[in-house]
Amino acid sequence: MTLCEFCILQQSDGRCSDGLSIPKKMRCVGFTPGIEKFCATPADYAGQEQLKQMAQFFGLAGKELNRVLLLTDTVKRPEALKS
Ligand code: SF4
Repeated sequence: MTLCEFCILQQSDGRCSDGLSIPKKMRCVGFTPGIEKFCATPADYAGQEQLKQMAQFFGLAGKELNRVLLLTDTVKRPEALKS
């Protein structure tokens, strides 16, 4: 698992659309996570804690983890759609 697999800047051929080298560790200055990289469908999203656990499981920490957690502000939760 590479950090790029959670990043929306990864192209279909695996390269970085910003031209950055593929990081060997889970750190990158350009890392731009996408919620769809963690949850295939919005209905799978169960909250910030779930996202945090997934990110930590894959070895994200520090700034990269914080960027993932910022995603939770922009996610529409399924229960919010019902009201
Ligand atoms: S910005 Fe970094 S993490 Fe994202 S695709 Fe490019 S190299 Fe990978």
